[in-house]
Amino acid sequence: MEKLPEFLSYGRQSVDEEDIQVVIETLRSPFLTQGPKIQQFEQVIADYVGAKYAVAFCNGTAALHAACYAAGVGEGDEVITTPITFAASANCVRYVGGTVVFADIDADTYNINPVEVTKKITPRTKAIIPVDFTGQPADMDKIMEIAREHDLVVIEDSAHALGADYKDKKVGTLADMTIFSFHPVKPITTAEGGVIVTDNKEYLHKLQQFRSHGIERTDYAVEQGDWYYEMTNLGYNYRMTDIQAALGLSQMKKLDAFIARRREIADFYTKAFKNVNEIVTPNQLEGTNSGWHLYMVQLEGVSRKLVFEQMRALNIGVHVHYIPVYWHPYYQQLGYEHGICPVAECWYEKALTLPIHPEMTMAEISSIVKNIVELLK
Ligand SMILES: *Cc1c(COP(=O)(O)O)cnc(C)c1O
Repeated sequence: MEKLPEFLSYGRQSVDEEDIQVVIETLRSPFLTQGPKIQQFEQVIADYVGAKYAVAFCNGTAALHAACYAAGVGEGDEVITTPITFAASANCVRYVGGTVVFADIDADTYNINPVEVTKKITPRTKAIIPVDFTGQPADMDKIMEIAREHDLVVIEDSAHALGADYKDKKVGTLADMTIFSFHPVKPITTAEGGVIVTDNKEYLHKLQQFRSHGIERTDYAVEQGDWYYEMTNLGYNYRMTDIQAALGLSQMKKLDAFIARRREIADFYTKAFKNVNEIVTPNQLEGTNSGWHLYMVQLEGVSRKLVFEQMRALNIGVHVHYIPVYWHPYYQQLGYEHGICPVAECWYEKALTLPIHPEMTMAEISSIVKNIVELLK
């Protein structure tokens, strides 16, 4: 065993001198918020994924909340999502008074299983929130087909998947609305931040309003004069700042290089574990190319807790993503029972996240492989 000199987190940002300079320049500019950087950043994101519109938010969770609002989810509506995700993918439904329905995952891809989605549809179903978990796109063709058949809105939670490919397209134009997060562990960072991309003008309008108190320049307001505006809905202050957008613009220049590096690391892991019986490496859905936000394996025939603790003792920041959302006390209190998604629960018990981020050195990657293989012996 070789202990790493410092704790190596499972994920972290990659920020360079250029990023720091653009933030400083923005601090010296007239606008710290509601300035020109937001729109520039939105345009760059929309162009990158090939979508018509982008709306930036203060974080990905606010973006999910706004998407549920724009989709018209409300009291009495059901929204289907996966239990193997960060809580925000489900919480956003609760923010607008809707009911979360969990559909089980596919054991190979760890993503929501379209067959299970179909089983959960009722006359009250309003939307589906598939998650591109670990950066691998969900089975979107099938999900969109189900949605069109039942007249459902699809909000793709791509918090992990900016830059991932689905059948020669970037993730971002497959669903009705797609959200990305810019938290420091995600593909690019704005510290906190998020965005929604969409081709739908009606959604665009609702999202922009929702982000800024429900305020708009109505025809009536224009008639009244330049100072006049109307608050027509109960919105929030979910705006991104120009400081964040400036950082995001600079980070976007490096996204492809970040993803390429993540793919190299994932490839290295997968090859290294090929003949290790206790480690099952992640399967990829045909036609997809993951952005590898996370590299997750299944441990067979060994104690996950023991491996986790021993790796942590070596300063290797292994992790587990995620505890099935409905196991959390909040959802338990709402009446969700253990066992409703058996594939997800079984998957979770064996799941382990290995560190992956662009700045990891070859020495660190080799050391992780060597240590875990030795430990399993
Ligand atoms: C990070 C994350 C979010 C929330 O993003 P924030 O920007 O942290 O609010 C939502 N869904 C998933 C799957 C995430 O990983």
